[in-house]
Amino acid sequence: MAIKVKAPAIYPVIQETNYSNLRSFNFYIVNYDDALFLVDAGYDNEACWNGLNDALKKNGFSLKDLDAILITHHHYDHLGIINRLLAEHPIPLYCHPLAIPRITRDKDFLSERVRFFNKLYLTSGCDEAHVNHELKRLREYMESMEKPIVHDDIRAIGEGDEIFGFQVLEVPGHSIDHLAFYHEGTREMLVGDHMIQHISSNAIIDFHKNGTKTLSLVQYEKSLRRLLAYPLDVAYSGHGELINDPHGLLKQKLSRIEKKGELILQMLNKPRTPAWVAQQIYKDRYETAFSLVMSEIIGHIDRLEYYGKVQKKADNGVFYYERKPFHRNRL
Ligand SMILES: [Zn+2]
Repeated sequence: MAIKVKAPAIYPVIQETNYSNLRSFNFYIVNYDDALFLVDAGYDNEACWNGLNDALKKNGFSLKDLDAILITHHHYDHLGIINRLLAEHPIPLYCHPLAIPRITRDKDFLSERVRFFNKLYLTSGCDEAHVNHELKRLREYMESMEKPIVHDDIRAIGEGDEIFGFQVLEVPGHSIDHLAFYHEGTREMLVGDHMIQHISSNAIIDFHKNGTKTLSLVQYEKSLRRLLAYPLDVAYSGHGELINDPHGLLKQKLSRIEKKGELILQMLNKPRTPAWVAQQIYKDRYETAFSLVMSEIIGHIDRLEYYGKVQKKADNGVFYYERKPFHRNRL
């Protein structure tokens, strides 16, 4: 049994990393009322496992006191030690319904994913060599990094739910299934990768069950904007430092999206493919971070199309986008 508390006590588990530019994997032990739960589960390594056990011990708890795991989204750097924890101490796992096929690595879903990205890259004007290379990488990546979460007590939560005193908010964009957990009384929010202080949270393209692509950046921008309506003193992020001025950061991120959108719009003075834009802006990164770069550029062009700033035409199975005439350069 956990100790009774009035406001939630949030104990960060922070493991520094050189992985990409993330700086750290952050996850959180939260004690609210009688409940003790985990929000996210770091990376699959000893440091995160030891970090969890040390943080529990330091605050007077043990693994067996945990009542549940909540996850903000399905990316593997947030699921790390879940299987290990559940093997020792099986407790309910809560996530967005769309996270379930993604964390359990549902076979049909994974094949659909390969088909989806194949089509997406080809229609975006990427050459076959890049597409084949990327699909090979995606398959290998799925096999090596993405171990399935094996558990028979996965529970879906979503917008409007309340769990352990926290409101559940759906904030899609960085991922299709992203959740944030808000405590109204203390104006605190656990935001996962929806907001990261030192880097932009890539809005990663995904697909719906019928195979249509998500408007990831449109979703992300809306999810950022909606948080401005919440009184927020601190946001607990999935990477890097705690966010002490959440509204300031939200505004900064919204303004960056706007500026980048303008830059891309200016480049579409002739019909261009997303792959062409990606190569112009990113050159080397088009080779080294292909999927992220394509996700970002496709996200921006979809956003411009969504707001009526560009028009699209298909030629030989490839989409070309062009700025609509007489727009006023403002979104
Ligand atoms: Zn992450």
